[in-house]
Amino acid sequence: MLTTLGFVISKKNVKEFDREYCFFTKKYGKINLIAKSIRKPLSKLSAQLEPPSLIEIVFVPNSEKGLIITALAKNSYCSIRKNIDKLKIYNRIVNRLDDLSITKQPDEALWSLINTSIKNLNKYSGKIVELNFSAKFLKIIGLAPNMSYCLNCQNKITDNQSVGFDKYQGGVVCAKCVSPKSINLTSQVFKSINILINMPFKEIMAKELNIPIEQRSGDIKKFFDEYIKQTKKYF
Ligand SMILES: [Zn+2]
Repeated sequence: MLTTLGFVISKKNVKEFDREYCFFTKKYGKINLIAKSIRKPLSKLSAQLEPPSLIEIVFVPNSEKGLIITALAKNSYCSIRKNIDKLKIYNRIVNRLDDLSITKQPDEALWSLINTSIKNLNKYSGKIVELNFSAKFLKIIGLAPNMSYCLNCQNKITDNQSVGFDKYQGGVVCAKCVSPKSINLTSQVFKSINILINMPFKEIMAKELNIPIEQRSGDIKKFFDEYIKQTKKYF
C-alpha cells in the first residue's frame, strides 16, 4: 500500500457502484485511481474525496489504475467550498495542471505550486491567485513567455512602453514592430505580467501589487489564456 497527499482533478462514474478519480499527488504526480463501491448508500469514502479538499490517499498501485483503500480530507478548504466563483477557479487551476502535465511523473515544484495556490485561494481573492498560478506554472514547465526582447528587431523592451504580443511566436514585439496579428498590451498590463512571472506571491501581496494587477485582471487573464492555448498545441 502507498500513501500520498493529493487534490482531485476530475472524477467519473464507472461500473455499477464505482468511481474513477484523477488526482494530482505529492509523491506520484498525476494518477488515476478507482474507488470501489463508492456509490453504495453507506459508503463513507465519497465525502472524503470531495474537491477542493487536500486529501491523504491510501491506495494499492496497479499498472493501469490503482485501488483506493482509504482517504481522509486533511483540509476541506471551507471558504472555497462555500464560494461558487472560487470553486470555478479551483476547477480552472486543476484543469490547467491536467492539460499540461504527464501522468505518473512526480514534480516537487508543481506540487508546491498547486498546494500553496489552493491554500492561497482559501484566504485571498481568487483573481490574483489564478493569475499567479498561470504565471508560475508556465515558469515551472519551462514555457514562460519571452518578455525581454522584441522578437522582430531584438531591441530590449522596457516596462514603460506598450507592446504587442505575438501569440504565434510566444513573445512580445515592440511598438514599432506591432502587426495586426499581435494582441496589444498596455504598458501597465505588460508590467503586471512581468511581476506575476518574476515576483514571489508573498512579495506581490506584501507590496500590495495585487491591487493594480486585479484592476487589469481581465486583460492579463486573456493574455495567459491565449498564450497557453497556443502552447498546448506543442505539448
Ligand atoms: Zn521591434
